[in-house]
Amino acid sequence: MAGGTEFSPMGALDVAGLRDGFRGELLSPQDPGYEDARKVWNGSIDRFPALIARCAGVADVIAAVRFARDSGLLAAVRGGWHSYPGLSVCDGGIVIDLSLMKGIRVDPEARTARTQAGVLLGELDRETQAFGLAVPSGIVTHTGLSGLTLGGGINWLMRKYGLTIDQLLSVDLVTAKGELVKASRTENADLFWGVRGGGGNFGIVTEFEFRLNPVGPTVLAGPIFWPIEESPNVLRFYREWISEAPDELTTIVAHRKAPPLPFVPRELHGKLIVGIVCCYAGAVEEGEQVVKPLKEFKSPVLDLCVPKPFLAHQAMFDPSFPHGWWYYLRACDVAQLTDEVIEITVDHALRIDSPLSSFVIWQLGGAVARVGEDETAFGGRSAGHTFNIGGITEKAEGFDKEREWVRNFWAALEPYHRGFYVNFLMEEGEERIRQAYGAKKYDRLKSLKRRYDPDNFFRLNQNIRPDVTV
Ligand SMILES: Cc1cc2nc3c(=O)[nH]c(=O)nc-3n(C[C@H](O)[C@H](O)[C@H](O)COP(=O)(O)OP(=O)(O)OC[C@H]3O[C@@H](n4cnc5c(N)ncnc54)[C@H](O)[C@@H]3O)c2cc1C
Repeated sequence: MAGGTEFSPMGALDVAGLRDGFRGELLSPQDPGYEDARKVWNGSIDRFPALIARCAGVADVIAAVRFARDSGLLAAVRGGWHSYPGLSVCDGGIVIDLSLMKGIRVDPEARTARTQAGVLLGELDRETQAFGLAVPSGIVTHTGLSGLTLGGGINWLMRKYGLTIDQLLSVDLVTAKGELVKASRTENADLFWGVRGGGGNFGIVTEFEFRLNPVGPTVLAGPIFWPIEESPNVLRFYREWISEAPDELTTIVAHRKAPPLPFVPRELHGKLIVGIVCCYAGAVEEGEQVVKPLKEFKSPVLDLCVPKPFLAHQAMFDPSFPHGWWYYLRACDVAQLTDEVIEITVDHALRIDSPLSSFVIWQLGGAVARVGEDETAFGGRSAGHTFNIGGITEKAEGFDKEREWVRNFWAALEPYHRGFYVNFLMEEGEERIRQAYGAKKYDRLKSLKRRYDPDNFFRLNQNIRPDVTV
């Protein structure tokens, strides 16, 4: 391990009490395995916690929370390590790492699933798809289910089945006092409201219970691509086409340089392209009718929208977001793809220089918008689209340039910003978090925070500060 001065030395921490009976692993900087365990998905984050508590179960989580409190340690909570700004690791404090907690139990009869906090999206899909069922989660299989769910969870099935939180039935949660509570619509209903969008502000969720819905296992899904010159036409056509789309269809528009993947023809490699990626969560034959006009629009250079296992579609973006690369993200919601928004989009698409940077535009609506804005803490149910602009490099070299591209693009869209999704925020300050929830919900979240975590023990998150703002 490099240096040795960046973190509080383990000697300063008396971990004997914590070690007693701890079923998981406790890693200090001098331990083998520490170096790997301190890494998170985003390679641009490089932090040195004093202790990593790899919990094996609820008792370990309770012990770690109590230990951190008693020792006055800053605590980070880690599910799947995919926080863009790296909020699941810290310098000098403790990381309460849930990634060993992998239990999944599917009840195909009752159509429910119980999952522990360290489960990744692909792991849950694997278990549920064995029965042709699914939880609507995210679009990259190695993302953590915990952090994604607590922020809301936008996904390929959302226009039919809603956000991930819309299928959440209950959670088990360890509070800042180190007590286990359950929250559902009937038990601690206020807390259940808060964890559906309020992130990790109220405690550590050790287990989730979800409702399952039928999906696939074969779905009509995949991208259709056109050359970048067609982007303005494609986007205008797309705008009209989706206005009539059934809820079964969820789409994402993508702009990037075509990657050198086996299914991409060699002549396209490195060329800027616009793609519309579809997922039809219904009968394949119906989906074929729905997607036909898109397939026939102009002359796509590549059409990969075909019947395929839902599991394969879920993994489609995995190669574009490997662990360890450097990532910078800015995101915003817009109401509509107006001509002005399209013009800005195309202008900044044409400025993509890197073979790795890209941006996607999610189509919302459908079941997401049918849940009332105040029913859960999640903000932005009425948004039309979410822009997700990613500057990506393999390592530090060139990162500043990509970040600049992202920031300029995001700033150009500023007049059209209609909200922000907390799980796509960097460290952007309290005002942005308030904007993400809206003033009314933000106040409600603050009073919930005052009840469950008045000392702001859980603060490495999109933090809802308990103190009263005047
Ligand atoms: C490649 C990639 C793809 C993504 N795709 C999507 C997508 O399709 N849809 C979408 O909605 N979002 C998506 N996201 C955003 C994602 O939802 C967030 O990054 C989320 O925080 C990841 O959760 P995690 O458990 O992996 O993160 P971690 O880094 O482990 O945790 C992030 C934060 O969540 C909190 N947290 C995590 N676990 C718990 C827990 N058990 N109890 C309490 N708090 C906890 C903590 O505050 C922590 O700081 C994506 C992110 C990446 C990097």
